[in-house]
Order: sequence, then structure tokens, then C-alpha cells
Amino acid sequence: MSDSSGAHHVVIVGAGFGGLEVAHRLAGAPVRITIVDQRNHHLFQPLLYQVATASLATSEIAWPVRHLLRNRKDVTTLLAVAVGVDSRNSKLLLADGGAVAYDTLVLATGAQHAYFGHDEWTPYAPGLKTLEDATTIRRRLLRSFERAERETDPERRAALLTFAIIGGGPTGVELAGTIAELAHGKLWKEFRYIDTRQTRVILIEAGPRILPGFAEDLSAYAHAALERLGVEIELGRPVRECTGDGVVFDHRKLSAKVILWAAGVRASSAADWLGVPADHANRIKVEPDLSAPSHPEIFVIGDTATLDGWQGKPVPGIAAAAKQQGRHVAATIRLRLRGDASPRPFRYKHSGSLAIIGERSAVIDLGRTRIRGRIAWWIWGLAHIYFLIGTRNRLTVALNWLWIYATGNRSARLITQGEQRPKLR
Ligand SMILES: Cc1cc2nc3c(=O)[nH]c(=O)nc-3n(C[C@H](O)[C@H](O)[C@H](O)COP(=O)(O)OP(=O)(O)OC[C@H]3O[C@@H](n4cnc5c(N)ncnc54)[C@H](O)[C@@H]3O)c2cc1C
Repeated sequence: MSDSSGAHHVVIVGAGFGGLEVAHRLAGAPVRITIVDQRNHHLFQPLLYQVATASLATSEIAWPVRHLLRNRKDVTTLLAVAVGVDSRNSKLLLADGGAVAYDTLVLATGAQHAYFGHDEWTPYAPGLKTLEDATTIRRRLLRSFERAERETDPERRAALLTFAIIGGGPTGVELAGTIAELAHGKLWKEFRYIDTRQTRVILIEAGPRILPGFAEDLSAYAHAALERLGVEIELGRPVRECTGDGVVFDHRKLSAKVILWAAGVRASSAADWLGVPADHANRIKVEPDLSAPSHPEIFVIGDTATLDGWQGKPVPGIAAAAKQQGRHVAATIRLRLRGDASPRPFRYKHSGSLAIIGERSAVIDLGRTRIRGRIAWWIWGLAHIYFLIGTRNRLTVALNWLWIYATGNRSARLITQGEQRPKLR
């Protein structure tokens, strides 16, 4: 693809939180924009666990990128997989052999889950990053109850009703709390041979506490709140093996037919494309203005970049940071186009960390101010509804949550796209 208009061409790879923010903030600038993503939708990852646990439908947390940018005549949307950068000739390389020429390139390709060198665990312990991951987890959870209903051997039935979640960060805590509520709630009334209230939900964390990024009192609160929901928490237990039958930690084997991975992430391959230094999680060590080392015309933002900037710590891999970086890059591009090429260091402003514990409690760490319990849950809910896209989605998500809050019933308990489809006789 070549540029015939002559306008400065900004190519953005990734229509996640960072990439979309760059496109939005460049509205009205004298540029032509091409946004490339391997998926046709922008995904609101903070609510993925709700799809995985049958609270929300996929269409409530994802929107077609093309539709989101439909009124922007300056933006072209491409469904394509980026596989490299030819920085000498200023071209983004695509998996189908195509290339897109750029004047400024923004890499906002995010991260994926990582198994600390144990990729062989992937089929047994799916992580949560995409809509496909969420529906896979939902299917495994719901199928496990179905298989337990038909299982006559008590040991095998117990394994089917044992769910192990690896990783005690916000995603692990959110999954564990919601799965415990699902299993220990009204579900038992719908089964005849099993009592779903006997389901074991086990959260396994290698470190000394859950929610290590939060203040200690909030992490202790979350620990106690999860235990009240019936979650068993194993701390200081690095996982040694995941198989189709269970998890090994501390040389002890836990028989569990559903294992979920919430323990680690690794940035996209952008560092390899550019051949620039990266940290242990493959995040590019960007310059203070968010450009790639030795490539002032290439910016790297969001989960695929790292820089210090917050109380001496790296900027966290959260949506708010990716959006702030997107805003900063758009402002830099505008200034450069006006002839001001002076470096503008990015300054991160931390607005807080949130984690939800089941459908009635949450913790919010705003630094000096810390909120917990129901009030935190309401603040969390309102904040997330505010950040969803479109009035219809805000209304349906709010109604779904109120319904679950009041009745405990989840409407999205559908087993779809099975790994093993029912065979017709
Ligand atoms: C389960 C979960 C829960 C989370 N909860 C929270 C939360 O509560 N609060 C919070 O602030 N943050 C949360 N986060 C983190 C937050 O979602 C990320 O920090 C944020 O999405 C990072 O934005 P990004 O633009 O860097 O990447 P992403 O939003 O991940 O976007 C990357 C985009 O790049 C595309 N892409 C990747 N590689 C290629 C390629 N080779 N070619 C083309 N396109 C490509 C992807 O398809 C994707 O659309 C959560 C994340 C997860 C997974």
C-alpha cells in the first residue's frame, strides 16, 4: 500500500486502549491514519473475566474497530497481522506479504499470557486475554459441572468439581471470587446428582500475599473476603506442573479438571521487530518521550513498552497508562508537524488500582485513600460502565449486573464452540 495523498501518514498497530487513544487524539490533525489490528474488534479486557464466568455476553465488551472509527474519514482500518518493521525503508510488514509505508509508526500491540518457559501447560491452563480465551474458560467451567452430573466415580467427580486458579493478581482474584459465587450460589438447584456448593475453588499464588500491587491491608481484606466466599488460598506455592489431571505445587498434586492461568504476561514481539533492548517480559525500554531507542519516528506504548515513571517503579500495565501514553504520543506528533521537535518526556499520573471480589465487594487503592467492601464495588461498577463504549452497552451491562446482584442468576451460561461437540446419533 502506498500513500498518494501526500499527508503525513501515521500507522498505528493495535486498536487496543493505547492505539485507539492515539487515533482519537489525532482527530483534526493534518495527518492520514491507518490503524492495523489482527482482530476486527476493540476489546474491553477489564471485563473479560465476566464473559469467562457467564455474567456478560461477548458483544457487551467488544466493538468492531471499523464501526468505532466510521465517522473518521482520515482513518483507514485494516484487518491484518503485523510481523515486522523495515525501519530503513519505513515500512510495516504484514503476515500476508503486504507492507504499509509510514512517516510515523505507533506500536501498541499489547501483551499475551506467558507460562514462564512452560508453553506445554497452555492447553491445560488457558489464560485470559482474548474473547476466545474467555469463551474457552466459560465452556470448560460449565462442561465440568455437566460432566460431574454424569460421573459416578466419587474421585473423578471431585476432580471435575475442583477449579484451580494460578496467580493471585487482580485477574486471579476476580476469577476465583466470581467462580466461587457461581458454584456456591443457586446453581445447585438445577442439578440432580451433584451439589455444586461442594465445588472447591483454589487460588494458588507463588508470592506471600494476593494482590501484591495493592496496600497490605487491602490485600488482607481481599484474602478474608475470598475465604468468606469459599475460596481456598494457597500462598508461597510456585506451580511446578500443569497437566490434564491437575496441578503440582510443593510436590503435592491437586486433582483438578479445570485449571486457569492468571500468573504472567509477556509483551508482543515488537522488540524483535525493531531489534531494540527489552526487559524480562519483552517490553521495549522506550525513551522518555515514548519513542523506540534510535527510532524517533517510531513510538511504542501500552503493555508492550516499559519506562520508569511512577514512584521509581515502571509504569504499570493497565488501561489508564496505555491511554495516557496514547494521548502523549498524539500531542507529540501534532507538535512535530508544527516544527517543534523538542523531546517531551511522558509523565504518568496514577489514578488508582481496583480489583473486584465476587459480585458484591471490591478494593480500591488510591494511595493514601483506600476503599473496600460494597462501596468500592459500586464505585468500581460505575467507573467501568462509564468507560464502556455506547449507551446500549452501558445500559445492558448495568442491568445485567443489577440482575445478578439482586438474584444471583447469570444469563450467559452458554456452552458454545465446543472442543468436543455433542455427537448426534
Ligand atoms: C483479564 C484482564 C483484566 C484486566 N483488567 C484491568 C483493569 O481492571 N484495569 C486496567 O486498567 N487494566 C486492566 N487490564 C490491563 C489492560 O487491559 C491493558 O493494560 C491494556 O489493554 C493495554 O493496552 P494496549 O493498548 O497496550 O494493548 P491492548 O489493549 O491489549 O491492545 C493490543 C492490540 O494489538 C493487537 N495486536 C497485537 N499484536 C498484533 C499484531 N502482530 N498485528 C496486529 N495487531 C496486533 C491486538 O489484537 C489488540 O487489539 C486487564 C487485562 C486483562 C488481560
